Amino acid sequence: MKEFRSSKALHDWCSKIRADGSSIGFVPTMGALHEGHLSLIRQSSGSCDITVCSIFVNPTQFNDPADYEKYPVTIEDDLRMLKETGCCDAVLIPRVEDIYPDGLEYDLDVELGYLGECMEALHRPGHFEGVMQVVRRLLEIAIPDILFLGRKDHQQFLVISRMIEHCGLEVKPVECEIVREEDGLAMSSRNRRLSPELRQTAVLLHLALDEIVRLGSREDPHHLTITYTHRLNEHPDINVEYLEIVDSESLLPVSDWNLCKSAMVCIAAQVGDIRLIDNSTIY
Ligand code: AMP
Repeated sequence: MKEFRSSKALHDWCSKIRADGSSIGFVPTMGALHEGHLSLIRQSSGSCDITVCSIFVNPTQFNDPADYEKYPVTIEDDLRMLKETGCCDAVLIPRVEDIYPDGLEYDLDVELGYLGECMEALHRPGHFEGVMQVVRRLLEIAIPDILFLGRKDHQQFLVISRMIEHCGLEVKPVECEIVREEDGLAMSSRNRRLSPELRQTAVLLHLALDEIVRLGSREDPHHLTITYTHRLNEHPDINVEYLEIVDSESLLPVSDWNLCKSAMVCIAAQVGDIRLIDNSTIY
């Protein structure tokens, strides 16, 4: 596995690979890697000749500076895990100045419509602007054929897909299934900040989503979200930011099951002082 600290060096390497006619799959991450990340690497390696991963904690997507400061950084472990997959060909670990040589200012004007007004966009102002900015830049550097993203961040997948269309980039975004711990908790870099007690509590988010999926279209969607938000909030260490049943494409809230082709339930909650998100497909 090749390690690049400079985006120019990676870009030159990727340009040669493309010129030779090989395909590139790209997996952007913020590090503190877990099986969820590695599943994207494996899927890339199964579909593309060369797999490139990036590890970059992007400052522009953190609306809360304290969250940025506390974001786990475990580069040595990450490199070991990537090597152990045996299928990651190159990793980029850039510095902030390397990614943003002209400063941190957001300079895209992608029309997100409702995607930019609901759920994560509403609760983390500026977050998706930072995500679009960094992914756009990373795509310029790695020039991949396919971009592999996780469904855990489904809204992010839709936002990045919109950005790719807006910018006319020739890369195909692919959404990969959520990888979970044995008890169902969605894997996340932030899980490692949970104390043993909060780790027990965190699984309640998944259990609530699971019950909602099981009850599914037999119940009124609005009633379901109100009931489960209230139940989760009764726990002293849980504070639900949103719990919504939405159309998987538009993310508009589902009010009538019959009018929605594909529905999912999405949640964001503070567990102690750790913010977690998850979602589950209803149909
Ligand atoms: P992050 O490092 O959190 O920015 O995530 C990098 C990529 O990994 C994103 O496309 C995420 O959606 C994806 N990802 C994170 N957690 C999981 C998971 N549990 N299962 C599948 N993909 C994930």
